[in-house]
Amino acid sequence: MFFVPRICEHCLNPSCAAACPSGAIYKREEDGIVLVDQDACRGWRQCITGCPYKKIYFNHRTGKAEKCHFCYPRIEVGLPTVCSETCVGRLRYIGIILYDADRVTEAAATENPQDLYEAQLDLMLDPRDPEVIAAAREQGIPEDWLEAAAKSPIYALCKYFKVALPLHPEYRTMPMVWYIPPLSPVVDLLQEQGHDAEAAGNLFGAIDSLRILVEYLAELFTAGDTAVVTGVLQKLAAMRSYMRDIALGRPGDEEIAAAVGMTGGAIQQMYRLLAIAKYDERYVIPQAHREEAHNLEELGCSVDFDGDPSMGEPFGGSSGKPVPVTIQSFNAMKAARDDESMV
Ligand code: SF4
Repeated sequence: MFFVPRICEHCLNPSCAAACPSGAIYKREEDGIVLVDQDACRGWRQCITGCPYKKIYFNHRTGKAEKCHFCYPRIEVGLPTVCSETCVGRLRYIGIILYDADRVTEAAATENPQDLYEAQLDLMLDPRDPEVIAAAREQGIPEDWLEAAAKSPIYALCKYFKVALPLHPEYRTMPMVWYIPPLSPVVDLLQEQGHDAEAAGNLFGAIDSLRILVEYLAELFTAGDTAVVTGVLQKLAAMRSYMRDIALGRPGDEEIAAAVGMTGGAIQQMYRLLAIAKYDERYVIPQAHREEAHNLEELGCSVDFDGDPSMGEPFGGSSGKPVPVTIQSFNAMKAARDDESMV
């Protein structure tokens, strides 16, 4: 068994927004967060059926649709979402992806569902490519955002190491929360059978023989393409084997790295990111810019004010009032966090 925490995917091609007759759902241009404008929502509920991930909820008290808003007031001041920061397993990473917005529709229309993963990868632009940097500057993307994009753990996991995969790409919404498929069940099985679970040969063989598991993962992440999932699991298996040698004081076996198309150095970088990355490496979030403030509408969280089901206002009577977002208190919180040198 494994656990797949599913949140709103803040899709590049959000079908919830397309389904809304009131135009109340929109994707913020400056950071890609998908939000429901509580003022504009008329409670048609088309978004609930429109989201294939089932990530929109209807608040029967307020008569408005609600969804994960990616903790946007925290993101605006450079703090990670609460679900990321409180994850005891330190499993979540947040970072910037520069992408070609003009090609999203074309990518989403890719005919073969199994090609959608590569089509979405193609949209992600290399933040260190001088041409991409020049184009981004032309578009007015601030320098600190470009620096953050170059250090993005998300770009590294999705595009550089290619170990993260989109959830149900066949829905064609171009989801932006990606997952690293689990290797642990393979290792546990080998250990139970009395094998050396960290040996590369054993691990690679086990991945190939556990067809049902790989097929199940492929249904989740690659529209059924098992080769991609097997490739990711082999990289993770290679990392375990390679790093075991290092941990035992032996030189890393370059053949293991080469078997999965990587170098020993790349495997060590991936290990650092996945296993021991510190707070500032897992969350690389630049602050929003004051000059962009007109784009950062203060919608407020629909469960934090009068529309809160616990607030006792009549159906639909009090929702949608703008709530001032307390930037100062978030900055104070961030300063306190930095003081404590959290890792
Ligand atoms: S996951 Fe659903 S609610 Fe979230 S942006 Fe995509 S379509 Fe909209």
